[in-house]
Amino acid sequence: MFGWTGVFLNVDLTRNKVVAESYDTTLALNFMGGRGFAAKILWDRLTPGIDPLSVENNLIFAAGPLTGFGLPNSGKLVVAAKSPLTGGYGDGNMGTQAAIQMRKAGYDAVIIEGKSETPVVLHIRDTVAEFIDAKDLWGLNSFETEAQLKSLYERTAGIVSIGPAGENLVKFATVVSQEGRAGGRPGMGAVMGSKNLKAVVFEGYNEIPAAYPKSMKELSAAGYREVMTKPNYAFWKRQGTISTVEWSQENSALPTCNFREGVFDKADKIGGFAMEKIKVGNRGCPQCNMTCGNVVKGSDRKESEIDYENIVMLGSNIGLGNLKQIAALNRFADELGLDTISLGNVLGFAMETSEKKRVPEKIQWGKFQETKALIEDIAYRRGFGDVLAEGVRSAAAKIGHGSEDWAMHVKGLEISAYDCHAAPAMALSYATSSVGAHHKDAWVISWEVQFGRKGYREEKINKVIEMQRLRGGVFESLTVCRFPYAELGFELEWYTKYLHAATGRELPFNTLIYTADKILNLIRAFWIREYASNWAKDMDVPPMRWFTQPLTEGPLKGAMLDPLKYDAMLNKYYRKRGWDERGIPKKSTLKKLGLSDVTKELGNYVKLND
Ligand code: SF4
Repeated sequence: MFGWTGVFLNVDLTRNKVVAESYDTTLALNFMGGRGFAAKILWDRLTPGIDPLSVENNLIFAAGPLTGFGLPNSGKLVVAAKSPLTGGYGDGNMGTQAAIQMRKAGYDAVIIEGKSETPVVLHIRDTVAEFIDAKDLWGLNSFETEAQLKSLYERTAGIVSIGPAGENLVKFATVVSQEGRAGGRPGMGAVMGSKNLKAVVFEGYNEIPAAYPKSMKELSAAGYREVMTKPNYAFWKRQGTISTVEWSQENSALPTCNFREGVFDKADKIGGFAMEKIKVGNRGCPQCNMTCGNVVKGSDRKESEIDYENIVMLGSNIGLGNLKQIAALNRFADELGLDTISLGNVLGFAMETSEKKRVPEKIQWGKFQETKALIEDIAYRRGFGDVLAEGVRSAAAKIGHGSEDWAMHVKGLEISAYDCHAAPAMALSYATSSVGAHHKDAWVISWEVQFGRKGYREEKINKVIEMQRLRGGVFESLTVCRFPYAELGFELEWYTKYLHAATGRELPFNTLIYTADKILNLIRAFWIREYASNWAKDMDVPPMRWFTQPLTEGPLKGAMLDPLKYDAMLNKYYRKRGWDERGIPKKSTLKKLGLSDVTKELGNYVKLND
C-alpha cells in the first residue's frame, strides 16, 4: 500500500499491551483517514450506550494519507472518541508534530482502550511502545508537561498531553500540543484523563511509503510557492483569522454577552488591527507557511497564541474588551486544557444566569480577575465551577429556572463564535454538524452575508451540504487544513495531485465527495444508535434564543430566526441528504453509500425507512 501505512496500533492501557494490526486497501479507500477512520473504528468497536468516561470508550488519534509527507498544511491529526459532553460522536483536529511522528512510526491511527491503574505516559517509538510512570507529571499543566517530556526525548518528538481539566474530567477538556494547539472540543481531553493517560509521545524514524516520491517533493515545493502567490497571503500572515472580528462586528454576527447581541461596543479594541499593535510573532502547525497563530503578550506578560474564536468567546461573549486580558485568559485555558470556545460560552451562560439572579453566585460581565478565578474553579471542579464543568446543557438542566433559554449549544456542544440571529444557513450548519455546534464543518456565514442573509432559500441548503462534505468530510479525513482553500483560494485540484503522488491512485474529487458522504452518514448513524428512542428532530435545531429574543442593538436590530421557515429548511435539508422526516438516513441512502452493514445494525435501535 502506498500513501497509507496500512497499520493501526491498538493500545490496551488496562493490560499494558500494544498490538499492531494491518488493515486492507478497501478500508483505506472507503474511509480515507482521520475522521473517516475514527468514525469507522468507533462504530465497529464501541458498545452503544457506554459511559464515555469508562474503560470501554476508545480514544483515537488518526491521520490521513497525506500526513507526514511535508505537504503544505498537512501536519494535522484527528483525535476522537464517544463524547462525554454530547453523548454522540466527538472529534477535533489539531496541528501537531505528533501527527507526523505517528505516521513515521508506521501508524495511520493509534487506538487507545482501557484504563491505566496509575497515571501514565505512552511513548511510541517506531515498533516499540512503552508505558512510563506519570505520577510526577499528574497535576502539571499542559505546557509544563510537554516541556518536561521534551527534555527527555529527541527534538523532533511529537507530544500531546492534557492539563488539569482533562485530569478532572471537565466535559469540554481538550488535548493540547505545542503550547496552544488544542483539539477535541467535545471532551477528548476528559476521555484521555479518564484513562489516566497524561500524554502520548510519538517518535518515528521511517519513510512513509509514497507511490511517486520525487513527484511528491516537487508538488510539495510547488504547493508552498502557490500558497504564497495568493493575493490575501500577506494580510493573512499579518492577522490570520482575527480580521474576522471587524467583519463580524460590521455584519452583526459578533457573539456578545452570551449571544444576546451581534455587535460589541469595544470590538475595535479586540480586532485584527488592535492585535497587530501588540503582536510579537506568528506560530502555527508544522509544515505550514500560513502560520495563523498570532502570538501576543497578555496582561500576565506571558505569550499567548490567539485567533478569532478564542478572542471572541473569551472577549465580546463575556463582555471583556481588553485584548491583553483576553490573551491571558486564553493562555490560562490552554495551560489547563480547556476548550476556549466552550469555555467562553459557559462563562457567558454563568454571567447571564447570575445577572438574572437564577444562582446566588455573583459573576459579572467582563471582570478579568473574577473570570480567571472561575476558570480555575471549572478546571478543578470547585463549587459552582463543578456545575459549569459539565457544559451549558447539563448546567442549565441542573440550575433550571428557565436557564435553558440562554444555554447556547446544539446537541450539548457549545456554539462557536458566530451569532446567527440573522444567518439561517449558518444556523443550519451548526445544527446539523457532525459533532454538535461547531463552525469547522460548514462555515457558510461569509457566503451567506455576501449573497443575502435573510432568506431560507434552497441555494443555502445546497451550500451547507456542499461545505459539510468538503470541509467536514474531505478535509477532516485527509486531515489537511481547510484554510488554504477557504481563506486563500488554494485550488482543490492540488489535493487530487497530492493523493495521486502519495497513493498512486486517481482519486477524483467526486470520489472524495462520495467518500465524505459515506463518512458523514456513518457519523449520523453513530449518533442515532447512541440516542436510539431519544433521538428527535429537535436535536437538529439551534438554540431557542435565536428564534425568540431578537437583536436589540446594531444595524440588524429586531432580527431573529423564523421557526416555521427554519423547520421547512431543515425538512428540505433532510430530503437532500436522503434522510427521513426524523433526520435518520434511509435504507436506500445507506445502500447507495455502501453502508448496508450499518442498516442492519442501526435497525436494532430505530425503525429505518426505505
Ligand atoms: S493555516 Fe493555521 S490552522 Fe492551518 S495549518 Fe497553518 S497554522 Fe495550522
